[in-house]
Amino acid sequence: MIPRPVVSTRRGEPTSDGAGVRLVRVIGTPGLDQLDPFLLLDEFRSDDASDYGAGFPDHPHRGFETVTYMLAGEMEHRDHAGNRGRLTAGSVQWMTAGRGIIHSEMPKQQDGLMWGFQLWVNLPAKHKMTAPRYQDIPPERIPVVEKDGAVVRVVAGSFGEVVGPVRDVVTAPLYLDVALRAGATFECPLTGDRSGFVYVFEGAVEVGEAHLERGTLGVLGTGELVRATAGPQPGRFLLVAAQPLREPIARMGPFVMNTRAELAQAVDDLQSGSFLRTG
Ligand code: MN
Repeated sequence: MIPRPVVSTRRGEPTSDGAGVRLVRVIGTPGLDQLDPFLLLDEFRSDDASDYGAGFPDHPHRGFETVTYMLAGEMEHRDHAGNRGRLTAGSVQWMTAGRGIIHSEMPKQQDGLMWGFQLWVNLPAKHKMTAPRYQDIPPERIPVVEKDGAVVRVVAGSFGEVVGPVRDVVTAPLYLDVALRAGATFECPLTGDRSGFVYVFEGAVEVGEAHLERGTLGVLGTGELVRATAGPQPGRFLLVAAQPLREPIARMGPFVMNTRAELAQAVDDLQSGSFLRTG
């Protein structure tokens, strides 16, 4: 099987979002505005509550999915329909915003480490106005596979015989959290037309010719498998892949549609109160 090379690398850019949460944006920046179907990747990591305490008060989304994967700390999620969930360390929330949700994502801690990721995954035109849906997955439902010095948490898609708990996502995503011992090699088949990336968040790993340090994203080229190796130090990374959509993107803040007219409609719907109308 042909290993996929890293065709480009990108370091995240410090920024802030929500009510002033400091984070590092890796996808969704001028340097890497998207990686079809991925629209945004943020890493938030701080043990200083002034970096995250203000959280993300009520805001809308339409036309895509948000995926929050927590490594440390705890957030609480609430939406307009009364849905409520706790995002504890090791959990994932795969939220299909579809035609629209208004929600808040607020820290449930006054101090201590808050660490995790938010990924935005686009929806194809025919699914943008689908009904909102949550897949709230507690840590114990995420299978952990130990193999050849790798510890792999399977959030979505499959690794070997093990299938992750996130289901029925239209872009057929793979979402793995891979921790490699020093000197270990990880391999995972990744065939077909899927786009993918590796984002290193601890230590360093090698993928093909690329040496990826913590905070670096490697965009994967074409091939049939992903092979990553840790050198003298351990490394931990996200391996994420999905089917690209190859559709026009019209994007404005929390709305991602196909045309400017659909963005204008989203703004109108929000102002008129029909944004959340069901059916
Ligand atoms: Mn949100």
